[in-house]
Amino acid sequence: GDDGQSFETTEKRIDYLIKKWPNLAPLFERVKNRSTALSVPNQSPMERFFKRHLSVTQLCEQSWCEIKMAYGFIKPKVRMLEMQNTEVTTGASIHLARELEVKPNVVTVAAVTREDREALKLINMLQMVPALETGQLVREFPVFGVLEGMFFMGVVDELYRSDSGELVLSELKTRSHNSLPRPAQTKGHALQVGMYKLLFDSMVKGSVKRDHLLHNLQLDPNRVLGSDLQTHTQSLGLQAVTFRELLDHLLIVLTCSNLHAIDKLRLEYSHQSSGKLIGTREVAFEEAQLRTNIRGYLAYWRGERVPQGVEVEEAWKCRMCPYEETCDWRRDRSQRLMMVNKRAKLEC
Ligand code: SF4
Repeated sequence: GDDGQSFETTEKRIDYLIKKWPNLAPLFERVKNRSTALSVPNQSPMERFFKRHLSVTQLCEQSWCEIKMAYGFIKPKVRMLEMQNTEVTTGASIHLARELEVKPNVVTVAAVTREDREALKLINMLQMVPALETGQLVREFPVFGVLEGMFFMGVVDELYRSDSGELVLSELKTRSHNSLPRPAQTKGHALQVGMYKLLFDSMVKGSVKRDHLLHNLQLDPNRVLGSDLQTHTQSLGLQAVTFRELLDHLLIVLTCSNLHAIDKLRLEYSHQSSGKLIGTREVAFEEAQLRTNIRGYLAYWRGERVPQGVEVEEAWKCRMCPYEETCDWRRDRSQRLMMVNKRAKLEC
Protein backbone atom coordinates (compact mmCIF):
# COMPACT_ATOMS: atom_id res chain seq x y z
CA GLY A 1 0.00 0.00 0.00
CA ASP A 2 2.95 2.37 0.41
CA ASP A 3 3.96 2.09 -3.29
CA GLY A 4 7.36 0.64 -2.42
CA GLN A 5 8.53 3.87 -0.80
CA SER A 6 10.76 3.81 2.24
CA PHE A 7 9.97 5.84 5.33
CA GLU A 8 12.19 6.90 8.20
CA THR A 9 9.66 5.88 10.83
CA THR A 10 6.45 3.87 11.09
CA GLU A 11 4.61 7.06 12.03
CA LYS A 12 5.68 8.73 8.74
CA ARG A 13 4.57 5.68 6.80
CA ILE A 14 1.16 5.78 8.50
CA ASP A 15 0.82 9.51 7.72
CA TYR A 16 1.45 8.71 4.05
CA LEU A 17 -1.20 5.96 4.10
CA ILE A 18 -3.74 8.30 5.74
CA LYS A 19 -3.23 10.83 2.91
CA LYS A 20 -3.58 8.11 0.32
CA TRP A 21 -6.70 6.53 1.85
CA PRO A 22 -8.45 9.21 3.91
CA ASN A 23 -11.53 6.98 4.40
CA LEU A 24 -9.34 4.53 6.38
CA ALA A 25 -7.82 7.31 8.51
CA PRO A 26 -9.47 6.24 11.82
CA LEU A 27 -8.01 2.74 11.48
CA PHE A 28 -4.53 4.01 10.59
CA GLU A 29 -4.67 6.54 13.44
CA ARG A 30 -5.33 3.72 15.89
CA VAL A 31 -2.37 1.75 14.54
CA LYS A 32 -0.25 4.89 14.98
CA ASN A 33 -1.49 5.38 18.54
CA ARG A 34 -0.76 1.79 19.39
CA SER A 35 2.75 2.01 18.01
CA THR A 36 3.46 5.10 20.08
CA ALA A 37 1.85 3.61 23.23
CA LEU A 38 4.06 0.56 22.96
CA SER A 39 7.13 2.36 21.70
CA VAL A 40 8.07 5.93 22.52
CA PRO A 41 9.74 7.83 19.62
CA ASN A 42 13.48 8.40 20.14
CA GLN A 43 13.53 5.90 22.99
CA SER A 44 14.27 2.22 22.57
CA PRO A 45 12.40 -0.34 24.74
CA MET A 46 15.77 -0.99 26.47
CA GLU A 47 15.79 2.64 27.59
CA ARG A 48 12.08 2.92 28.20
CA PHE A 49 11.92 -0.17 30.41
CA PHE A 50 15.27 0.61 32.11
CA LYS A 51 16.99 -2.55 30.93
CA ARG A 52 20.71 -3.13 30.61
CA HIS A 53 20.43 -6.81 29.70
CA LEU A 54 17.79 -9.39 28.79
CA SER A 55 16.86 -12.83 30.01
CA VAL A 56 16.56 -15.77 27.64
CA THR A 57 12.96 -16.32 28.75
CA GLN A 58 12.13 -12.74 27.76
CA LEU A 59 13.04 -13.53 24.16
CA CYS A 60 10.96 -16.69 24.35
CA GLU A 61 7.93 -14.68 25.51
CA GLN A 62 8.63 -12.28 22.68
CA SER A 63 8.59 -15.14 20.17
CA TRP A 64 5.02 -15.91 21.34
CA CYS A 65 3.68 -12.37 20.86
CA GLU A 66 5.69 -9.15 21.03
CA ILE A 67 2.66 -7.04 21.88
CA LYS A 68 1.81 -9.31 24.81
CA MET A 69 5.36 -9.03 26.11
CA ALA A 70 5.31 -5.23 25.73
CA TYR A 71 1.93 -5.04 27.51
CA GLY A 72 3.58 -6.97 30.35
CA PHE A 73 5.76 -3.91 31.01
CA ILE A 74 3.02 -1.34 30.48
CA LYS A 75 0.38 -3.24 32.48
CA PRO A 76 2.44 -5.09 35.10
CA LYS A 77 -0.53 -5.94 37.36
CA VAL A 78 -2.14 -8.07 34.65
CA ARG A 79 1.16 -9.85 34.09
CA MET A 80 1.59 -10.43 37.82
CA LEU A 81 -1.84 -12.09 38.00
CA GLU A 82 -0.94 -14.25 35.01
CA MET A 83 2.29 -15.34 36.73
CA GLN A 84 0.30 -16.31 39.84
CA ASN A 85 -2.01 -18.70 38.01
CA THR A 86 -1.97 -22.32 39.13
CA GLU A 87 -0.27 -23.63 36.01
CA VAL A 88 2.74 -21.31 36.43
CA THR A 89 3.10 -21.78 40.20
CA THR A 90 2.74 -25.57 39.94
CA GLY A 91 5.41 -25.59 37.23
CA ALA A 92 7.75 -23.57 39.48
CA SER A 93 7.21 -25.98 42.42
CA ILE A 94 7.97 -28.99 40.20
CA HIS A 95 11.21 -27.33 39.05
CA LEU A 96 12.21 -26.59 42.65
CA ALA A 97 11.46 -30.16 43.77
CA ARG A 98 13.62 -31.52 40.92
CA GLU A 99 16.44 -29.15 41.81
CA LEU A 100 16.37 -30.30 45.44
CA GLU A 101 16.53 -33.96 44.31
CA VAL A 102 20.13 -33.39 43.17
CA LYS A 103 21.02 -30.90 45.95
CA PRO A 104 20.11 -32.75 49.14
CA ASN A 105 22.40 -30.69 51.42
CA VAL A 106 20.99 -27.19 51.05
CA VAL A 107 22.86 -24.60 53.15
CA THR A 108 21.30 -21.26 54.08
CA VAL A 109 23.68 -18.35 53.56
CA ALA A 110 22.77 -14.71 54.23
CA ALA A 111 23.25 -12.43 51.22
CA VAL A 112 23.38 -8.75 52.09
CA THR A 113 24.37 -6.94 48.88
CA ARG A 114 23.57 -7.46 45.19
CA GLU A 115 27.14 -8.72 44.79
CA ASP A 116 26.44 -11.31 47.52
CA ARG A 117 23.36 -12.54 45.70
CA GLU A 118 25.25 -12.89 42.41
CA ALA A 119 28.16 -14.49 44.30
CA LEU A 120 25.82 -17.22 45.56
CA LYS A 121 24.99 -18.14 41.96
CA LEU A 122 28.71 -18.26 41.10
CA ILE A 123 29.42 -20.49 44.11
CA ASN A 124 26.65 -22.87 43.01
CA MET A 125 28.21 -22.99 39.55
CA LEU A 126 31.65 -23.68 41.04
CA GLN A 127 30.14 -26.70 42.77
CA MET A 128 28.29 -27.91 39.69
CA VAL A 129 31.23 -27.78 37.23
CA PRO A 130 33.22 -30.65 38.85
CA ALA A 131 30.01 -32.66 39.28
CA LEU A 132 29.28 -32.29 35.59
CA GLU A 133 32.89 -33.15 34.69
CA THR A 134 32.55 -36.45 36.51
CA GLY A 135 29.35 -37.25 34.62
CA GLN A 136 26.81 -36.31 37.29
CA LEU A 137 23.52 -34.68 36.42
CA VAL A 138 23.22 -31.02 37.47
CA ARG A 139 20.11 -28.84 37.59
CA GLU A 140 19.47 -25.08 37.46
CA PHE A 141 22.85 -24.17 35.99
CA PRO A 142 23.14 -20.38 35.37
CA VAL A 143 24.41 -19.22 31.97
CA PHE A 144 25.31 -15.71 30.83
CA GLY A 145 27.16 -13.89 28.11
CA VAL A 146 26.87 -11.65 25.08
CA LEU A 147 24.85 -12.72 22.04
CA GLU A 148 24.57 -10.45 19.02
CA GLY A 149 25.80 -7.53 21.12
CA MET A 150 23.32 -7.99 23.98
CA PHE A 151 24.09 -9.42 27.42
CA PHE A 152 21.79 -12.34 28.28
CA MET A 153 21.21 -14.39 31.39
CA GLY A 154 19.40 -17.67 31.84
CA VAL A 155 19.20 -20.84 33.91
CA VAL A 156 19.53 -24.25 32.26
CA ASP A 157 17.16 -26.84 33.71
CA GLU A 158 19.35 -29.89 33.35
CA LEU A 159 22.79 -30.88 32.06
CA TYR A 160 24.05 -34.46 31.97
CA ARG A 161 26.08 -36.94 29.98
CA SER A 162 24.23 -39.49 27.89
CA ASP A 163 25.25 -43.16 27.90
CA SER A 164 27.37 -42.46 24.83
CA GLY A 165 29.17 -39.58 26.60
CA GLU A 166 27.38 -36.70 24.85
CA LEU A 167 26.75 -33.54 26.87
CA VAL A 168 22.96 -33.08 26.87
CA LEU A 169 21.07 -29.90 27.72
CA SER A 170 17.50 -30.64 28.69
CA GLU A 171 14.62 -28.27 29.46
CA LEU A 172 11.60 -29.46 31.41
CA LYS A 173 8.21 -28.05 30.44
CA THR A 174 5.20 -28.92 32.55
CA ARG A 175 1.76 -28.93 30.93
CA SER A 176 -1.77 -28.93 32.24
CA HIS A 177 -2.86 -30.87 29.12
CA ASN A 178 -1.64 -34.44 28.86
CA SER A 179 -0.42 -33.96 25.28
CA LEU A 180 2.59 -32.60 23.43
CA PRO A 181 2.41 -28.88 22.54
CA ARG A 182 1.63 -27.39 19.14
CA PRO A 183 4.57 -26.34 16.90
CA ALA A 184 3.89 -22.65 17.75
CA GLN A 185 4.57 -23.43 21.41
CA THR A 186 7.70 -25.49 20.77
CA LYS A 187 9.13 -22.62 18.68
CA GLY A 188 9.79 -20.62 21.87
CA HIS A 189 11.12 -23.70 23.68
CA ALA A 190 13.55 -24.44 20.83
CA LEU A 191 14.72 -20.81 20.89
CA GLN A 192 15.31 -21.12 24.64
CA VAL A 193 17.49 -24.24 24.51
CA GLY A 194 19.35 -22.93 21.44
CA MET A 195 20.23 -19.72 23.28
CA TYR A 196 21.27 -21.66 26.38
CA LYS A 197 23.64 -23.68 24.22
CA LEU A 198 25.18 -20.54 22.68
CA LEU A 199 25.71 -19.08 26.16
CA PHE A 200 27.05 -22.29 27.73
CA ASP A 201 29.40 -22.93 24.81
CA SER A 202 30.81 -19.41 24.98
CA MET A 203 31.37 -19.79 28.74
CA VAL A 204 33.40 -22.99 28.44
CA LYS A 205 35.30 -21.60 25.42
CA GLY A 206 36.41 -18.60 27.49
CA SER A 207 34.54 -15.99 25.44
CA VAL A 208 32.75 -14.57 28.50
CA LYS A 209 34.80 -11.82 30.10
CA ARG A 210 34.72 -10.48 33.63
CA ASP A 211 33.64 -7.03 32.45
CA HIS A 212 30.60 -8.40 30.60
CA LEU A 213 29.02 -9.39 33.90
CA LEU A 214 30.32 -6.46 35.94
CA HIS A 215 29.27 -3.81 33.43
CA ASN A 216 25.86 -5.23 32.46
CA LEU A 217 24.76 -6.04 36.00
CA GLN A 218 26.38 -2.90 37.40
CA LEU A 219 28.30 -4.83 40.04
CA ASP A 220 31.17 -3.52 42.12
CA PRO A 221 34.17 -5.82 41.54
CA ASN A 222 35.86 -4.69 44.75
CA ARG A 223 32.85 -5.31 46.98
CA VAL A 224 33.94 -7.48 49.89
CA LEU A 225 31.66 -10.50 50.23
CA GLY A 226 29.43 -10.66 53.32
CA SER A 227 30.86 -12.44 56.37
CA ASP A 228 28.36 -15.31 56.09
CA LEU A 229 29.30 -15.77 52.46
CA GLN A 230 33.03 -15.67 53.21
CA THR A 231 32.60 -18.38 55.84
CA HIS A 232 30.71 -20.43 53.25
CA THR A 233 33.38 -19.97 50.53
CA GLN A 234 36.12 -20.96 53.00
CA SER A 235 34.19 -24.10 53.99
CA LEU A 236 34.24 -25.06 50.29
CA GLY A 237 37.98 -24.43 50.04
CA LEU A 238 37.58 -21.29 47.92
CA GLN A 239 39.91 -18.33 48.46
CA ALA A 240 37.83 -15.28 47.53
CA VAL A 241 37.25 -12.14 49.53
CA THR A 242 35.92 -9.78 46.85
CA PHE A 243 33.33 -10.35 44.13
CA ARG A 244 36.01 -9.95 41.44
CA GLU A 245 38.15 -12.72 42.95
CA LEU A 246 35.21 -15.10 42.97
CA LEU A 247 34.18 -14.24 39.41
CA ASP A 248 37.75 -14.62 38.09
CA HIS A 249 37.99 -17.99 39.82
CA LEU A 250 34.78 -19.20 38.18
CA LEU A 251 35.82 -18.03 34.69
CA ILE A 252 39.14 -19.88 35.03
CA VAL A 253 37.44 -23.04 36.33
CA LEU A 254 34.99 -22.99 33.41
CA THR A 255 37.65 -22.58 30.73
CA CYS A 256 40.09 -25.07 32.30
CA SER A 257 37.43 -27.73 32.91
CA ASN A 258 37.06 -30.69 30.60
CA LEU A 259 33.61 -29.44 29.63
CA HIS A 260 33.03 -28.80 25.94
CA ALA A 261 30.18 -27.50 23.81
CA ILE A 262 26.71 -29.01 24.29
CA ASP A 263 26.15 -31.96 21.97
CA LYS A 264 22.41 -32.41 22.21
CA LEU A 265 19.37 -30.25 22.95
CA ARG A 266 16.31 -31.90 24.38
CA LEU A 267 12.83 -30.81 25.51
CA GLU A 268 10.98 -32.88 28.08
CA TYR A 269 7.23 -32.44 28.53
CA SER A 270 5.59 -33.69 31.68
CA HIS A 271 1.96 -33.69 32.82
CA GLN A 272 1.43 -31.37 35.79
CA SER A 273 -1.23 -33.21 37.75
CA SER A 274 0.00 -36.79 37.27
CA GLY A 275 3.72 -35.91 37.04
CA LYS A 276 4.03 -38.43 34.18
CA LEU A 277 6.27 -37.89 31.20
CA ILE A 278 4.25 -36.92 28.11
CA GLY A 279 7.17 -37.11 25.70
CA THR A 280 10.52 -35.68 24.67
CA ARG A 281 11.70 -33.83 21.59
CA GLU A 282 15.20 -33.40 20.25
CA VAL A 283 15.92 -29.89 18.98
CA ALA A 284 18.14 -29.36 15.93
CA PHE A 285 20.74 -26.64 16.45
CA GLU A 286 21.02 -24.36 13.44
CA GLU A 287 23.29 -21.58 14.60
CA ALA A 288 23.04 -19.23 11.59
CA GLN A 289 19.23 -19.29 11.65
CA LEU A 290 19.14 -18.96 15.43
CA ARG A 291 21.41 -15.89 15.36
CA THR A 292 19.28 -14.33 12.59
CA ASN A 293 16.18 -14.84 14.75
CA ILE A 294 17.89 -13.33 17.81
CA ARG A 295 18.90 -10.26 15.77
CA GLY A 296 15.29 -9.94 14.59
CA TYR A 297 13.99 -9.95 18.19
CA LEU A 298 16.72 -7.53 19.30
CA ALA A 299 15.72 -5.06 16.56
CA TYR A 300 12.60 -4.41 18.66
CA TRP A 301 14.59 -3.93 21.88
CA ARG A 302 16.96 -1.54 20.13
CA GLY A 303 14.05 0.57 18.90
CA GLU A 304 14.64 -0.28 15.25
CA ARG A 305 11.01 -1.36 14.75
CA VAL A 306 7.62 -1.39 16.50
CA PRO A 307 6.36 -4.58 18.20
CA GLN A 308 4.31 -7.06 16.21
CA GLY A 309 1.25 -8.97 17.45
CA VAL A 310 0.05 -12.34 16.27
CA GLU A 311 -1.49 -12.62 12.83
CA VAL A 312 -4.74 -14.31 11.95
CA GLU A 313 -3.20 -17.79 11.47
CA GLU A 314 -2.30 -17.81 15.17
CA ALA A 315 -5.34 -15.91 16.44
CA TRP A 316 -5.98 -18.81 18.87
CA LYS A 317 -3.18 -17.37 21.01
CA CYS A 318 -5.34 -14.30 21.70
CA ARG A 319 -8.06 -16.47 23.26
CA MET A 320 -5.69 -17.41 26.10
CA CYS A 321 -4.20 -13.93 26.46
CA PRO A 322 -4.99 -11.75 29.50
CA TYR A 323 -4.91 -8.63 27.26
CA GLU A 324 -7.46 -10.02 24.80
CA GLU A 325 -10.22 -7.53 25.66
CA THR A 326 -8.06 -4.44 25.47
CA CYS A 327 -5.50 -5.35 22.82
CA ASP A 328 -5.44 -2.75 20.02
CA TRP A 329 -3.49 -5.05 17.72
CA ARG A 330 -6.18 -7.70 17.93
CA ARG A 331 -8.95 -5.17 17.30
CA ASP A 332 -7.13 -3.67 14.30
CA ARG A 333 -6.44 -7.14 12.94
CA SER A 334 -10.17 -7.97 13.09
CA GLN A 335 -11.00 -4.75 11.28
CA ARG A 336 -8.34 -5.33 8.65
CA LEU A 337 -9.74 -8.79 8.12
CA MET A 338 -13.30 -7.50 7.79
CA MET A 339 -12.16 -5.00 5.18
CA VAL A 340 -10.27 -7.64 3.21
CA ASN A 341 -13.37 -9.88 3.27
CA LYS A 342 -15.60 -6.99 2.16
CA ARG A 343 -13.26 -6.18 -0.74
CA ALA A 344 -13.09 -9.85 -1.73
CA LYS A 345 -16.91 -10.01 -1.81
CA LEU A 346 -17.13 -6.83 -3.92
CA GLU A 347 -14.59 -8.22 -6.38
CA CYS A 348 -16.64 -11.41 -6.69
FE1 SF4 B 1 -0.85 -10.61 21.37
FE2 SF4 B 1 -3.31 -11.47 20.79
FE3 SF4 B 1 -2.63 -10.97 23.32
FE4 SF4 B 1 -2.92 -8.98 21.58
S1 SF4 B 1 -4.53 -10.39 22.31
S2 SF4 B 1 -1.30 -9.21 23.04
S3 SF4 B 1 -2.14 -9.89 19.67
S4 SF4 B 1 -1.76 -12.56 21.99
